[in-house]
Amino acid sequence: MDLTYPAEAESFRAEIRSWLERNLPEGWGQPGFEMSPEDRTRFQEEWTGKLFDGGWICATWPKEYGGKGLTTMEAVVLNEEFARAGAPMRADFFGDTLVGPTILQWGTEEQKRFFLPKILSGQISWCQGFSEPDAGSDLASLKTRAELDGEEWVIHGQKVWTTQARYADYIFLLARTDPDAPKHAGISYLLVPMKQEGVEVRPIQQIDGSAEFNEVFFSGARCPKENVVGGLNNGWNVAMTTLGFERGTSATTGHRRFLKELDEIVAIARKNGKASDPLIRQRLARAWSDVKILEINGLRSLTAILGERKDPGVAAIGAGNKMFWSEYHQRVMELALDILGMDGQILTGSISEEFIPGYGRRRGRESYPVNALQSSFFFSRSETIWGGTAQIQRNIVGERVLGLPRVKG
Ligand SMILES: Cc1cc2nc3c(=O)[nH]c(=O)nc-3n(C[C@H](O)[C@H](O)[C@H](O)COP(=O)(O)OP(=O)(O)OC[C@H]3O[C@@H](n4cnc5c(N)ncnc54)[C@H](O)[C@@H]3O)c2cc1C
Repeated sequence: MDLTYPAEAESFRAEIRSWLERNLPEGWGQPGFEMSPEDRTRFQEEWTGKLFDGGWICATWPKEYGGKGLTTMEAVVLNEEFARAGAPMRADFFGDTLVGPTILQWGTEEQKRFFLPKILSGQISWCQGFSEPDAGSDLASLKTRAELDGEEWVIHGQKVWTTQARYADYIFLLARTDPDAPKHAGISYLLVPMKQEGVEVRPIQQIDGSAEFNEVFFSGARCPKENVVGGLNNGWNVAMTTLGFERGTSATTGHRRFLKELDEIVAIARKNGKASDPLIRQRLARAWSDVKILEINGLRSLTAILGERKDPGVAAIGAGNKMFWSEYHQRVMELALDILGMDGQILTGSISEEFIPGYGRRRGRESYPVNALQSSFFFSRSETIWGGTAQIQRNIVGERVLGLPRVKG
């Protein structure tokens, strides 16, 4: 593992740092920093435009498709500096992080030219149509089907747990295009417009009243024949690329939000006296060690990605990373609530869906005003599920990294 960064990375770091200083509100991220609701609204409205002008949205994409063509090293530095400053990146997870890079890797030239600039500019927003009522971990059991009718695919079936489906313009969806092929073959990866007859979105309300998830029903929905990504019946391989992006991004920055949150939890423990409880201290020490492990593993992965040295352990780190951070986060959020005690029951948040430096976007709503820690606690429950459950990640480590016999069934 190499802990030093090349000189050109450091000069790029200085460039980002100065851009952030010029563009973030004064005092951003400092203790005691507050924004009025009006300032916060203005910030949210203006920030994406500033990011776009700076070229920081999808900055690794090639220049010909509207990106800035950053190298891996530069992208790492960019992420590090944004994380250090607690500056939000644009939150279009599905477009920027999942389908955009998938189209870059697998798409036709026409698909790249049509979709990538529209993802960058925020003109097209996305949702992910993989899971079905009987196909979650066992994704290849999916039943949604697409049949050709002249120049168009016609789609029938149902997806579930489709985040953001109510707002999305397009869905990237897996459908069976050859019903006679074996389970993992015969699936295609389609880009389908959401706002059309034949697509019905039904929100699933959660315990706090919000409804990020949806069921999506397709009854004769259509998309052009050429909207298949990565070739007909090759959808399984393309989907695995998307899931790879979902499970393992931001090698050296992932730990930072956890460190920030842990600092806050330690401060609460000091203030309310729980820090002198030996069992609490032990759990805090373990949490700190876990975050350090995440940081060190991130640096080790980066060294391997940059190709200086081959490190066979890195494959195991990559496969185990999602399981490790999601289980860590559940443990530490339970610890946070134990430290808060009865105070943890009081809802002290105010505005829902706001940006919080270091946390990203807070969930919840006006009539269930969770604060940042409570919001993080609730969301941590889902983190061992989305993007591949912790159990499935263990199977992957066992089978693909350790070479253990395959799980049957
Ligand atoms: C917050 C959130 C957002 C999501 N957003 C989306 C989205 O936008 N689009 C989308 O397509 N999906 C989305 N999902 C769905 C998610 O991908 C699935 O929930 C996940 O893949 C698990 O599938 P399942 O819910 O059907 O559970 P199941 O697969 O039925 O699993 C149930 C339990 O059995 C365990 N299990 C299953 N198979 C095995 C095995 N072989 N070995 C060991 N244990 C096993 C699992 O680990 C789990 O604990 C989202 C989920 C969450 C929580």
